[in-house]
Amino acid sequence: MPHDEFPAGSVWLVGAGPGDPDLLTRKAERLIAAADIVFYDALVGPGILDLIGARAEQISVGKRSGRHSKDQRTIDSLIVAAALEGKRVVRLKGGDPAIFGRTAEEVTACRAAGVTVRICPGITAASAAVASAGTSLTLRGVARRLTLVTAHAQAGATLDLDWPALAATDSTLAIYMGRAAAATVAQQLVAAGRSPDTPVLVVVNASLPNERIIRGRLSSLAFLVEAISAHDPAMLIVGEAVEADPTFAPAQSSGVREGILIA
Ligand code: SAH
Repeated sequence: MPHDEFPAGSVWLVGAGPGDPDLLTRKAERLIAAADIVFYDALVGPGILDLIGARAEQISVGKRSGRHSKDQRTIDSLIVAAALEGKRVVRLKGGDPAIFGRTAEEVTACRAAGVTVRICPGITAASAAVASAGTSLTLRGVARRLTLVTAHAQAGATLDLDWPALAATDSTLAIYMGRAAAATVAQQLVAAGRSPDTPVLVVVNASLPNERIIRGRLSSLAFLVEAISAHDPAMLIVGEAVEADPTFAPAQSSGVREGILIA
């Protein structure tokens, strides 16, 4: 490890990637191995937790829809307290910490307490999802924009998104936390002018052994997500860039995969 990369009493927010330990950065692996204490999310899988040093503490602060989890302020204060005790703290987050990862709150809490905090990026779920499906998030001359959007509404609130902007035909939508709202998303996009024939890709457990790849059209999105368990992370990708290539066969290297083509 480079000198002073991880001094005692400091915090690293580390992107754990989509799940496959081979999709960690080398830096993330080094930081995980060097930590005295690791606070990790529910989406961080066992293969990655195996890389934590034998003497390090592992603390789940898991958030998964519908299950009990520590609230954000509790997580912020646990991280800060561990650093102030002089520990090397890793806060391990699914995907990239900068994307729907509550990173701003944790950075602010560390800085307010005078704790040094740094960020190690990770591969985000949208990248992993299209890689598994052998496709791309952008497409030259067709999909010039990529919008990362969360379709998770606060409890009791309606989904308040800029539908006309999202319906632009030259844009790919990478929708995080979108399973529950899939029917609303499809209906609103079509109402705002996006074609019901727009290709959609749903990737469940991207990069993990139980990955599933489901293809279809915007008009069938609500139906496509019906079989997905609320506990399995799913990416919804909408746009011409993910049009199926009939010659593509997904890699079989990491277990059962399923490709359903609903045209
Ligand atoms: N920071 C993370 C996103 C956190 S929000 C990232 O950059 O990937 C959590 C959402 O990410 C999940 O609800 C799901 O929509 C998506 N997600 C995370 N890991 C995933 C995976 N392995 N497969 C599919 N979707 C995933």
